[in-house]
Amino acid sequence: MLRRAAINTAVWDELMTGLPVCAGLDADERARLHRTASLFLHDKRLEPLAGVVLDESRRAALAALACLPVLNLGLAAYRGWRTVLIYPEEFLARHAYTDDAGLAHEEVAPLAGEAWDGGPVVLSWEDVERSLELDGYNVVIHEFCHKLDMSNGEANGLPPLPAEMPLAAWTQAFTEAYDRMCADVEAGRETLLDPYAAEAPGEFFAVACESFFERPRALRAAMPAVYDQLRQYFRQDPGRRLA
Ligand SMILES: [Zn+2]
Repeated sequence: MLRRAAINTAVWDELMTGLPVCAGLDADERARLHRTASLFLHDKRLEPLAGVVLDESRRAALAALACLPVLNLGLAAYRGWRTVLIYPEEFLARHAYTDDAGLAHEEVAPLAGEAWDGGPVVLSWEDVERSLELDGYNVVIHEFCHKLDMSNGEANGLPPLPAEMPLAAWTQAFTEAYDRMCADVEAGRETLLDPYAAEAPGEFFAVACESFFERPRALRAAMPAVYDQLRQYFRQDPGRRLA
């Protein structure tokens, strides 16, 4: 079954040549990512909507980005849900929220991506394409890292840590960096991460993951403790492989 679903080697090799976020992966890691991405396409259901056309190279590109974070965690980290919906561009999503005064509101806002707790990941293909560049923006990594975060409850910036990672070190690193981020945004200071990271600890985690994979050295310089926690959690060190 997997043999049939495996991503064609020529498609995979061409993808790896043109995907800078995967530059520096050694031959073993590339082979493992190829296997994981093939399994991903076998396990998950990609549903193109509203005219999106997903050929094999697009499916492979999406799977490669989605699987890079779990390269050393295994696909089991994405268990419990099945569907990835893909719109052609930003899509409108309706969200209920309660303001500081306790009033309930509903708003409709355009989104590049969304991850439902226990449900689908939703992506805009236009933003998936933007995520193929190495600039710190990656909606695929962002939403799939929300999925990792949600695998032990709501997206709160604390994914399930392995036994060898003390909770206190994670909490300290992320709380300090998040508080500083919020203060910087409030004061209008320039920040490495997109200011959207100051929305909530769960968003901070997902945005930090984008930078961890896309511009690791900048993240390591700006937030060494956060970088170190992510390096331990993902069991990979993009700062060593990306210039
Ligand atoms: Zn988010």
